[in-house]
Amino acid sequence: MRKHIVAGNWKMNLNADESQALIEALKTKKLSSDVRVAIATPAVHLAAAVNLTSGTKIDVSAQNMHQATSGAYTGEISASMLKSIGVNTTLLGHSERRAYFHETDALLAEKVNTALENGMEIIFCFGEELDERKSGSHFDVVSSQLRNALFNFDASQWSQIVLAYEPVWAIGTGETASPAQAQEMHAHIRSVLTAQYDDALAQSVSILYGGSVKPANAQEIFAQPDVDGGLIGGASLNADDFAAIVNAF
Ligand code: PEP
Repeated sequence: MRKHIVAGNWKMNLNADESQALIEALKTKKLSSDVRVAIATPAVHLAAAVNLTSGTKIDVSAQNMHQATSGAYTGEISASMLKSIGVNTTLLGHSERRAYFHETDALLAEKVNTALENGMEIIFCFGEELDERKSGSHFDVVSSQLRNALFNFDASQWSQIVLAYEPVWAIGTGETASPAQAQEMHAHIRSVLTAQYDDALAQSVSILYGGSVKPANAQEIFAQPDVDGGLIGGASLNADDFAAIVNAF
């Protein structure tokens, strides 16, 4: 049985006091016991977030990590550093990292490898740009993003991988993929996993949808049979909205 997961991506938002206040507000909310909940905070708040969420159902995730295990990479953060403060999950491949920090599929394959070798779980983000959707190449684009970054890994390693399909044209734009568009792509992703591995693996991987998910549209999107949850940007910065999305299952 795959898990329902709702993860918040705070991006580069909130200072230390605001971060603490948001976590304290989230802790007052009743969150569905059927849904795994995670927050991906800025790196500087991770240790505090781990302490503040201790004993709750809220997991803490990084937003990124470096592919090397240690060394002369000024400003970067390694998997073992994350693990040493109790962070066992990281986002990788977010479209903003691909666009602004030039993260390629090949680099992401290295990052995934390092994360998996360090026993971390990854939430791997991918999705097509608007022009790719308009030209009808979105299925091929998504297939190749998965193939290039993830298909070198053994089936056994996929228990540490969560997928997050995030059409770039729907991120932070207020534009959402329709529930039918999300379902169509998630079914495609499962068929690609079946072809590369097998149906049992394809059915076991949680596939999240991300892109302008709000309390008003979460229920319809989460009702799709191949949508196992959401990666939530803007709405994760508001405790009421984030809790409402978690409870939309
Ligand atoms: C995201 O950053 O992963 C995201 C989906 O953002 P938003 O919900 O704001 O579109």
